[in-house]
Amino acid sequence: MIKETFSPEETFSFGKWIGENALPGQVYTLVGDLGVGKTVFTQGVAAGLGITEPVNSPTFTIIQEYETGRMPFYHFDVYRIGDIEEMEEIGYDDYFYGNGICLIEWANLIEEILPEHIIEITIEKNLERGFDYRKITVTGLPE
Ligand code: ADP
Ligand code: MG
Repeated sequence: MIKETFSPEETFSFGKWIGENALPGQVYTLVGDLGVGKTVFTQGVAAGLGITEPVNSPTFTIIQEYETGRMPFYHFDVYRIGDIEEMEEIGYDDYFYGNGICLIEWANLIEEILPEHIIEITIEKNLERGFDYRKITVTGLPE
């Protein structure tokens, strides 16, 4: 599925739609350059899950947990991870194979421990289409 957006609000709405339709146990990966809209998208997902507290990038921790939505939301940012042992220390498999929703930014850095079935989301700019244009590609969603 490809969704093109032309404003932060549209990216938020698309994330919200993803969150509204998310199913327990799903693992989403989110890839895209700095400033492309990963946080905007994630805030939409959280809103779609009914989460009421503010959601930001977990800069100083690998994971931020939100429990106020219709199911637990585990937001990972593994950008600063040193090695996979750090994931083992936080007990990542309880999250990846639990009944909440995982969303993992910079998931390419932990490729070897990702579950077999993930939903991959990539956000890209294309300046020829305008400063606020984003192309959001989603693969692996259930039919
Ligand atoms: P990231 O988390 O990927 O580093 P952010 O979500 O923090 O990026 O920031 C994205 C920035 O791009 C915001 O300042 C937002 O207002 C701007 N922006 C412009 N157009 C869009 C769009 N179509 N979708 C998402 N963000 C957009
Ligand atoms: Mg961010």
